[in-house]
This record gives sequence, C-alpha cells and structure tokens, in this order.
Amino acid sequence: MLKISNLTTHYGPSQALFGVDLEIGAGQVATLLGRNGMGKTTTINSIMGIVKASGGSIKFDDTELVGRPSFKTANLGIGLVPEGRQIFPNLTLEENLIATASNHLEMADPWTIDKVFALFPSLEARRWFMGNLLSGGEQQMLAIGRALMTNPKLLILDEATEGLAPLVRESIWSALKLIRENGTSILVVDKNLKDLLRIADRNFIIERGRIVWSGSSDELKADRKALHRYLGV
Ligand code: ATP
Repeated sequence: MLKISNLTTHYGPSQALFGVDLEIGAGQVATLLGRNGMGKTTTINSIMGIVKASGGSIKFDDTELVGRPSFKTANLGIGLVPEGRQIFPNLTLEENLIATASNHLEMADPWTIDKVFALFPSLEARRWFMGNLLSGGEQQMLAIGRALMTNPKLLILDEATEGLAPLVRESIWSALKLIRENGTSILVVDKNLKDLLRIADRNFIIERGRIVWSGSSDELKADRKALHRYLGV
C-alpha cells in the first residue's frame, strides 16, 4: 500500500533523511521507532508533503506522493494525527470533526460523528466544548477522530500517546486495534515500545535518517542488541 524508497529530505542545507526505505501492506500496522531527532517526524511530514522530499519515491498504491501538495495526498486516503494534536482551538469538539468530514474514496459505511463517539465515549459529553478547553487526552482522541472523519485507508500517528495518562493511553491502543480490524492500515510513532509491539505487524527503526532495522515484533523482542543499540532499552 505504501512503499517508500531511497527517500531523502533536507532542511535548507542540512540533510535529515539519507535514503529511507519503508513498506506497509494493506491492513497492516507498522511502527517507526528511533531516538529523538532521528527523523521520524521528518519521514511522516515527507509522506504528507508538509516538508518537501529532495529525492527518492513514496508510492501510495500506485500514486507517487513526492512533489504532491498535502491536500491532494490527504484526498488519496491518508489521515494524519500530527505531533502536538493541532486541534482547532476556537471550534467546538463537534465542529473539529465536521471540519474534516469527507469521503473522497466513497468508502462504504463511512465514519460519522456518532461512530467517533462510539470509539471514544468520553468525547460525547464534551461535544460543545471549544477545542482549547479540552484535556490533552481528549484532544488526542479528537485528533484521531478528526483524521478518521476523512475516511483514510492509511492512518498516520506521530506520537500517539505522548504525555497522556495510562487510562487514556489504553483507550487509544484499544481504538487503534478496532481501527485496524476495520481494515485501515496504520503507521504509528510512539515511545511506549511495549504497547507498540503488541499491535504492530512490522517495525522499522530509524537512526540518523536511515532505516537500520526492520522486522516483526517477535523478532524485535528477541533482538536485544538492536533494542539496546538503537532504542537504548
Ligand atoms: P523527535 O522524537 O524528537 O520528534 P524525530 O525522530 O521525529 O525526533 P525529526 O524531528 O524528524 O526527528 O528530526 C530529524 C532531524 O531533522 C533532526 O536532526 C532535527 O534537528 C532536524 N530538523 C527537524 N525539523 C527541522 C527544521 N524545521 N529545520 C531544521 N532542521 C530540522
């Protein structure tokens, strides 16, 4: 479904990605792991066209994403839950969901506000709250709901549970399992390795702008050397 080959990205004269290769199959959950500053957000932002790739290829189904504006990439069926959530602060929770509602791929049984509330029941009581009055956990659930309202085939989460209470984290992991059961592919960045490995089909480790390891969760759990060397655990 998503095939990234030899992706390079620069910020001005400074190079951040040095030939990233990564693949996600339809219906799979993939993780992108790595220490701070290694290139996870840059990879995600390059997929979305938020930063411009300087070389290589990102194929989504058979469409080349490099050089494509972000809104056109989103319309192909990629939903982003960005680092820092970026909820619209002066819209209500419900308006945040309405703002992105679309079904460009004409999916049968599309996401609705009620389905988002069924996925995250605690959001319903807050539906009239302004975005900036929501807690961090509510904002993160809303950011996921807002991405789902675009009816994506691939959902990308940059820091899925960072800074959230254990109970909220648990409800986000459960939601991601349900979203995957729905047939949606997921690419997720997070620091909670234990939780990630429970849901991942495939894991990719990035180190200084290059993928240095990839494999299943069982393979990663067994590879103590890689865990220690690349993730410091
Ligand atoms: P973190 O977990 O801290 O978010 P990350 O793995 O997502 O880290 P990136 O944010 O992609 O890493 O950063 C990769 C490299 O690109 C780092 O060296 C970083 O300093 C650099 N970088 C990121 N954003 C910019 C920017 N806007 N301008 C210049 N350099 C940047």
